[in-house]
Amino acid sequence: MTGTSALARPSDLAQERRLLTELPGPRSRELLERRRAAVSDGVGTTFPVFVERAGGGVLLDVDGNSLIDFGSGIAVTSVGASAPRVVEAVQQQVAAFTHTCFMVTPYEPYVRVCERLAELTPGDHAKKSALFNSGAEAVENAVKIARHATGRSAVVVFDHAYHGRTNLTMALTAKDMPYKRGFGPFAPDVHRVPMSYPYRDEPGLTGEQAAARAIAAIESAVGAERVAAVLVEPVQGEGGFIVPAPGFLPALAEWCRRSGALFVADEVQTGFCRTGAWFACEAEGVVPDLIVTAKGIAGGLPLAAVTGRAEVVDAVHTGGLGGTYGGNPVACAAALASIETMRELDLAGAARRIEEVFVPRLRALAQRHPVVGDVRGRGAMLAVELVRPGTTEPDPATTSAVAKACHARGLVVLTAGTHGDVLRFLPPLVMPEHLLLEGLDVLDEAFDAVAQGPAPAGVQAPAAPAQQAPVQQQSTV
Ligand SMILES: *Cc1c(COP(=O)(O)O)cnc(C)c1O
Repeated sequence: MTGTSALARPSDLAQERRLLTELPGPRSRELLERRRAAVSDGVGTTFPVFVERAGGGVLLDVDGNSLIDFGSGIAVTSVGASAPRVVEAVQQQVAAFTHTCFMVTPYEPYVRVCERLAELTPGDHAKKSALFNSGAEAVENAVKIARHATGRSAVVVFDHAYHGRTNLTMALTAKDMPYKRGFGPFAPDVHRVPMSYPYRDEPGLTGEQAAARAIAAIESAVGAERVAAVLVEPVQGEGGFIVPAPGFLPALAEWCRRSGALFVADEVQTGFCRTGAWFACEAEGVVPDLIVTAKGIAGGLPLAAVTGRAEVVDAVHTGGLGGTYGGNPVACAAALASIETMRELDLAGAARRIEEVFVPRLRALAQRHPVVGDVRGRGAMLAVELVRPGTTEPDPATTSAVAKACHARGLVVLTAGTHGDVLRFLPPLVMPEHLLLEGLDVLDEAFDAVAQGPAPAGVQAPAAPAQQAPVQQQSTV
């Protein structure tokens, strides 16, 4: 990845971990005070370090610290947070024009993104797309399209699913806290069925059997003829990086075909090379009727899409889909540059390489620390689930303690899981290998430090400044 053209270089920032102050440092703490006074407490903070620059595999904070980024802003900055090609494309587009509204007077970059989506998404049938601003907005539109195209209204979703925070997508999302509590009533005709969760299912349950269990629930509780869409994340994100058993997704897709329901893949987190292929559905040759993308699509700019069978997407009357900003030209320029970067640097291959580097290290960690109950994931979407040793009882307290210990050492990690017992790793796909390895060393240290327990009385933990009020740690998808 080095020695290529300037545009293909992941970043000009020094690719190193460098700690000049405790974390958060004094300038971050000042900003945190202003944040507390001005920003809604309803918006969470995983790690209260304010960022000044970012690129490649590092975040540079306002105190001059350089952190290793195993979060990518939640699977967004796969090409890095200042990928040269993206920066250049955005600068050119923003100088040409920032907005016309595609529904008023169109522009080429929107069309070009839809052409690329048709080429890159699974299946060689005719495809069309519509563009939106966020994953949640795109998921809502996939449901609108599915209902319109089928003339049915029921939507099937899964345990542990995460699809967003708007009213309809809260209904689709499984987890109560923090996403749903107190925000109802929710949209009706959404039905939740069991997911394939190999670590927690009865041992030996195959993907086909897990699909049969879900299908039995659909047929008895909803009725096959009422189902507009079965909406599924091919690898669950916020739910805890749950990889369904092989055969689960193909059996569901096959049931949809037989039943006249649409198989809708929410690839908002898994898409665009994250799992080692352009899309996670490819691992089992599943071709969704509709595929929803966002997060990694545009190198950090807000863009989302629904792509699907032309006749399905076109079933909606003209004017039925859209929005003021959907497919903003600057975001489209960023998406085209991101896709080009992914192709040029073979970031799907980079994601597979990240899995090769991580998995043996995570397995070794599990050997040393019985609190690690499961190691799983695919490509650069990897996780460990933490449980009370010898059981499968979730251990969110240790999960949060390890995350904090990583943060204090300059490694950004995120948690996930219905029970908050999953540490997830989503490095930018352009992260140089020495930083991946250093990040894994830090993770080892963090586990060791937590296993040794709190520092003895009278000894101050270096990264817990006394004046700092506790900051809530939570998943922030
Ligand atoms: C993040 C996410 C969403 C929501 O995307 P936003 O851009 O935050 O609205 C939907 N589905 C999945 C699988 C996600 O990971």
